[in-house]
Amino acid sequence: MKYYDKLIFELSRSGRTGYSLPKAALVSEAPLPANLLRESALELPEVSEVDVVRHYTNLSQMNFGVDTGFYPLGSCTMKYNPKINEEIAAHPLFTGLHPLQPAETVKGAQEVIDTLDSCLAAITGFEHFTFLPCAGAHGELTGLMLMREYHAARGDAARTKVIVPDSAHGTNPASAAVCGLEIVVVKSRPDGLVDVEDLKPLLGPDIAGIMMTNPNTLGLFEREIRQIADLVHECGGLLYYDGANMNPLLGKVRPGDMGFDILHLNLHKTFSTPHGGGGPGSGPVGVAKSVLPYLGIPQTSGFHGNFGVMMRALAYILTLGRENIKMAGPLAVLGANYIKESLKDVYKLPIASVCKHEFVYDGLVNDGAREGVPGATTLDVAKRLLDYGFHAPTIYFPLLFHQALMIEPTETESKETLDAFIEVMHHIAQEAADDPEMLHSAPHNTPIRRPDETTAARNPIVKA
Ligand SMILES: *Cc1c(COP(=O)(O)O)cnc(C)c1O
Repeated sequence: MKYYDKLIFELSRSGRTGYSLPKAALVSEAPLPANLLRESALELPEVSEVDVVRHYTNLSQMNFGVDTGFYPLGSCTMKYNPKINEEIAAHPLFTGLHPLQPAETVKGAQEVIDTLDSCLAAITGFEHFTFLPCAGAHGELTGLMLMREYHAARGDAARTKVIVPDSAHGTNPASAAVCGLEIVVVKSRPDGLVDVEDLKPLLGPDIAGIMMTNPNTLGLFEREIRQIADLVHECGGLLYYDGANMNPLLGKVRPGDMGFDILHLNLHKTFSTPHGGGGPGSGPVGVAKSVLPYLGIPQTSGFHGNFGVMMRALAYILTLGRENIKMAGPLAVLGANYIKESLKDVYKLPIASVCKHEFVYDGLVNDGAREGVPGATTLDVAKRLLDYGFHAPTIYFPLLFHQALMIEPTETESKETLDAFIEVMHHIAQEAADDPEMLHSAPHNTPIRRPDETTAARNPIVKA
């Protein structure tokens, strides 16, 4: 055990402090009322400033973050976010605002919201946005409620079903279910795209709409989107665009031009906000003209949404500008295809076509399985990556492949970083072939080894 592995309570010495305050000169001491005083002493560690600093710095280094290493997490766009966005979002003139301030005193904040609205409208080809939803899933629910309102206002109450591709992110069917809609699954073809022939018989007067991600969760652009849009509109339904994968399309293609009616964007993914551990997020919902009258009806959160995330998004968009924002997509696409091609001899590539910003392997070509020793799995590869200082990719999603390993390099990584990752992935494939047992027990040099994830999820112990 290292000295630094000690708990901060074990470092505590009675009377030691980490701060000193000057004696109050201008005000006299006023005793607290007796009923507010505690009966027993508060148990806090008594340590010096240096102990506190080391405690928190060491804790921060037990974790993995995009500031410490490469984060190839597919479907989540964990890009490096320029620090200037953090500085702008933390500007005291904005963070000091109170949500109940009179409107005429917060004109600057209103301008931020309006400018972001028009930037996003230009980028997506939609009319207007609401910034109330605080995450992608929250945006999906809001968007589906708008879809329901749209049909209800036309007296079209029979539309109770929503079509979702089998490659969809789990939040899509979950949001539809929460909204009280029935889910109908449309299959993907072997090439990973929505099967239009499977879609046709599903369409009818009971369909509220379809939810699609484009590029989809396999990183493939749905080429038949215009035909799909026409078919869904002809049957009276609307098209919902899950904008979590907007990163490779920025400035190149607009969902509004593809025929979508409602969309959400994940500002924390595409437009720069560090969002590990579930937050903070912002999932603004945009609408086409036909749905505009219903925008803003569902008051899904208080005040104006997650303003800090919106500040970062606006700073990101304005820093890059109309021309440079177009570079994010091609660089992300180049990085993803570079990794995909470099490792396809050792990791199974079920869909070989050119991908957008992310792609999926289906486990190892040679997993090392032999008599009495099971082969190395995708989980083993992901855990072993941690030993080499890389965050694991998304695994076992999408559900189309049993050993799915989904990689998204993002545009902010250098070729040198991609090469280092490729080298380690090759090395792990060799380790799997030679000694799968060693991989089963990875990671070997992280502060926490391999927790029982099922028990951790079902019976979480979040405090000692
Ligand atoms: C991340 C993601 C979502 C959900 O967004 P949250 O902000 O995490 O709620 C939905 N769809 C896709 C494709 C995603 O990648």
